[in-house]
Amino acid sequence: MSIQARNRFIGIDVGGTKIMGVVADPTSGEIQVRRKLPTPTSDPERLPPAIGEVVDELIDAAGRPVGVGVGVPGLVDHQGVLHYGPNVPGVLGLDIAGELRREFGLPVIAENDASCAALAEHRLGAAQGTMHAIVVNQGTGIAGGIIIGGRLHRGANGFAGEPGHMMINANGHLCACGKRGCWESVASGAGLANIAREVVAEGRATRILELAGGEPAHIRGEHVSAAIAEGDTDATLVLDRFGWWVAEGLASLIALLDPEIIVLGGGLTAINRHFISEVQERVNETVMGAAYRPEVPIVPARLGAEAGAIGAAVSARDLFFGR
Ligand SMILES: [Zn+2]
Repeated sequence: MSIQARNRFIGIDVGGTKIMGVVADPTSGEIQVRRKLPTPTSDPERLPPAIGEVVDELIDAAGRPVGVGVGVPGLVDHQGVLHYGPNVPGVLGLDIAGELRREFGLPVIAENDASCAALAEHRLGAAQGTMHAIVVNQGTGIAGGIIIGGRLHRGANGFAGEPGHMMINANGHLCACGKRGCWESVASGAGLANIAREVVAEGRATRILELAGGEPAHIRGEHVSAAIAEGDTDATLVLDRFGWWVAEGLASLIALLDPEIIVLGGGLTAINRHFISEVQERVNETVMGAAYRPEVPIVPARLGAEAGAIGAAVSARDLFFGR
């Protein structure tokens, strides 16, 4: 497969363990080449050269692109400077876009990785054709992106779209960000484990505890999914409470942003085949003014693990051709 030179863009997704790069056509989503390298997590200074290596390999394989987009987990400003990245400790004002621009002489944009994934779902995936969409990705934590008026909402500094850190319960669980009661502490993979621990503390969910080797601290989301697959009724109770928190957070987002659609990504939507429809029902009941507004459809993400890289290419295309 070959992409026309004018539609050839590089998209990079910097993950916690690997840097994934693609040469893609951001107008069709077609991917021509893929490359992967491990993320250097020990030293933030080594991140831009490692990204550069992936870009180099992609250029060797497919030729020079029109531009490069890089999706990075953390707070990335409008200039493409990473101010805080949970996966690259010690980062302080790392000019990712600038370093790559100087190295390759190409237009480069760096953007929050979840914003990239949201951009991809909006332009090429489950939210295609909508003007107002929210994309929520439930992994270990919760990442998100907001589309307002057909465009990605970046906020004053570029830091918008972190629904996982909306505070939802003042006395809640400790979040990875250091605060207590963030939505992701009850509605992500880590949140699922927190809720399982609550149920264990009530003297139930013995099968989940057993799967975690008898140690509540070792409970992970996977243990809950495994117990659900076995038909364990207490695991279903855990999932039920979890779904309640997911729905409460989504209802708050609907009250705030009035979207046409909500896209749920990450592996958790597949935990049980009724999960999304149950969340949909609860959201329909709990949302402000429930009886007086149209249903906001909650749908699974379509682009999977490559959404971030494709979205980074879309972002680079927008930088070059405008949106
Ligand atoms: Zn938090």
